[in-house]
Amino acid sequence: MNKSTMKFTVIVTLIAILLLAFIVTLGSSKKEDETEVVRQEVDLSGQPLLGEENAPVTVVEFGDFKCPSCKAWGEMIYPQLVEDYVSSGDVNFSYVNVLFHGNESTLAAIGAESVLNQDPKVYWDFHKALFKEQPEENHDSTWITIEKLLEVAKEFPSINQDQLREDLEGELTMAQVDIDKELFMKHNVSQTPTININGITIEDPFDYDAIKEVIDSELEADKNE
Ligand code: CA
Repeated sequence: MNKSTMKFTVIVTLIAILLLAFIVTLGSSKKEDETEVVRQEVDLSGQPLLGEENAPVTVVEFGDFKCPSCKAWGEMIYPQLVEDYVSSGDVNFSYVNVLFHGNESTLAAIGAESVLNQDPKVYWDFHKALFKEQPEENHDSTWITIEKLLEVAKEFPSINQDQLREDLEGELTMAQVDIDKELFMKHNVSQTPTININGITIEDPFDYDAIKEVIDSELEADKNE
């Protein structure tokens, strides 16, 4: 091999290496584009669950009993979701307490966790009954009190009133409320309700078509797995 042939070989090799590096870079940046959807699944250990435990899709509401939009969501969107997806076993549903409205939010969360501990089977009915008590007007005025929570729980015989009062007065389920607090902070929840479907946050929680679209695409992906 003479000098010029060697030089030529070196240059060709260098170009080949550069090309290869370029292709590899291109390939990896393309991969990043494909996984554009931000997915952050919620750790639901110890949280209430409605529907089939092993449902392929999980919808999580970050909500606040003191928040009017959450009451509206529970009346407008939640029943459709249950009818279309939870009843069939395709979706299960969970709820994480958010504490954006001060002491009343916290008190309601403490009570709800107590009910969940005492009888998970009546949790969702209690949940619904408590939202029903939220006044249509002047929702900023105080309405969540220990007496109100006891009164709402009274229609559920499996809930021990003394235990509930003890939990509320002594804030005995605060550790569970703190877990919820950590969750909504971790997931950067800035408004309630925030709806998360298999880790994907829905931009407008009242856009049921958008919710359906994500659920359907998750179900399709599950089928093809
Ligand atoms: Ca909780």
